[in-house]
Amino acid sequence: MKFEQLSLIEPLLQAIHKKGYLIPTPIQEKAIPAILSGKDLFGVAQTGTGKTAAFALPILQLLTTERDRTQRRNVRALILAPTRELASQISEEFYVYSKGLNIKLLTVYGGVSQRPQTQALQKGVDVMVATPGRLLDLIQQGYIALNKIEFFVLDEADRMLDMGFINDIKKIIAKLPNRRQTMLFSATSSPEVKNMASSLLDNPVTVNLAPVASPPSLVSQKVYHVSQENKKLLLAHVLQDELVTQALVFTRTKRGAEKVVKDLSRQGIKADAIHGDKSQNAREKALKAFKNNSIRVLVATDVASRGIDVDRLSHVINFEIPEEAETYVHRIGRTGRAEHQGAALSFCSGNERMYLKNIHKLIKHQIDVVHSHPFVNIHKN
Ligand code: AMP
Repeated sequence: MKFEQLSLIEPLLQAIHKKGYLIPTPIQEKAIPAILSGKDLFGVAQTGTGKTAAFALPILQLLTTERDRTQRRNVRALILAPTRELASQISEEFYVYSKGLNIKLLTVYGGVSQRPQTQALQKGVDVMVATPGRLLDLIQQGYIALNKIEFFVLDEADRMLDMGFINDIKKIIAKLPNRRQTMLFSATSSPEVKNMASSLLDNPVTVNLAPVASPPSLVSQKVYHVSQENKKLLLAHVLQDELVTQALVFTRTKRGAEKVVKDLSRQGIKADAIHGDKSQNAREKALKAFKNNSIRVLVATDVASRGIDVDRLSHVINFEIPEEAETYVHRIGRTGRAEHQGAALSFCSGNERMYLKNIHKLIKHQIDVVHSHPFVNIHKN
């Protein structure tokens, strides 16, 4: 299918063309017509499937074609995201697609001064991308009213629930008008998420794309058995390979992330970390440096990494194996995006073997083992 067959207006087609997208992704094929026809949508899809454009494009189209120009600009579309990074990325996409549409965008999140956000609100905003905490703050201070919302998107609903945002979300939803179009996206469809979908959505179209047990097929996966102490040496060894153009390295803890950055810099490898204890500025700086290739290695914890979207990320390295098997699938979904090959390398110590077993069970196959590396750790099972 071609984008031209999706009944999108010309400025959007131009923006898509400029971005270099050739054909719609499966979720875009299904979601764009459904949203354009006014339906609610339940999308089960991970980051990397093109889900942001799947809701951003039709929302922008409906906002443009159905604009009531007599009114002062009211917030007409609200997109809720669990983290600041994800909110920024969604905004960036809206920004690119809305070129030439006369749409005002605002991103609302905590950890930074609220002044620029409230000033923008006073000038009028059409589309707001927000994290729940700051949004509620601004509502309570009287800066934002949600009574003119026509489009509401809840992105990464599973993550929202994990992060304990359920009460904030309920408070926000209570302020929305009943007549609205709602879209809910989630990487998994747990009973909690399904519950939320059925209470929030009215006769939705469901697009189920990403059974979490199946990692993206363009990602080659390898496991290295290595002792915990030797992991830092193995990492430096792996990074010698020129094919590793960019690596997102995962650790389980913030301290672990800092330690990896230090160990790498001792070995002359530039890296930075992104985790919950870092200020918003420091996180954005690190992500920017990684995106524009001034650092090759970004070390992240799971929560901080959620939604990191780097085009053509070549490698994901699990410096530590996650305790939850599903987290493994999320992590490696950061690479192998949009038809580019990616590789996921996992460093497994003796203590982590049981986590690896759970991953094998979830993905229903055994990850290939690399036997020929200098730090092989032989275990007796
Ligand atoms: P998302 O799932 O929204 O996080 O998108 C993942 C990545 O795919 C982003 O970098 C998008 O810019 C890119 N993308 C979205 N739609 C397409 C498409 N139709 N063709 C190629 N890349 C796309």
